[in-house]
Amino acid sequence: MKKIEHIGIAVKNLEVSNHLFAKLFGKKHYKTETVASEGVKTSFFKNGPNKIELLEATNPNSPIAKFIEKRGEGVHHIAFAVKDIKAEIKRLQKEGFTVLNETPKKGADNKLVAFLHPKSTNGVLIELCQEMQ
Ligand code: ZN
Repeated sequence: MKKIEHIGIAVKNLEVSNHLFAKLFGKKHYKTETVASEGVKTSFFKNGPNKIELLEATNPNSPIAKFIEKRGEGVHHIAFAVKDIKAEIKRLQKEGFTVLNETPKKGADNKLVAFLHPKSTNGVLIELCQEMQ
């Protein structure tokens, strides 16, 4: 596993939060993207070397809607860059982690992604992401 690629934050209203985080960082988000299969609309901020992803649910069954219902707005996941996502999935399964996506799927920002279930990682949802060529 390499560096933290981004931190994902669940928000109720992307437009309102885009304003809030633009004030916080002193600059606007550089893109928004909807991932229909995940039921999310995302926006991305770059702040120095760090990247923040805001996530809003696009429907009531979205994992983000469920997260906010249960825990409120806040940090949703930490994403780590990996070089070879398939190899990393195999390695982590062998180590006993619960991988939610045995086959990596297409995520936002031109990435292949897979998630680890928070019950196997001390309550933290971990995303693995590999840049798509
Ligand atoms: Zn993410």
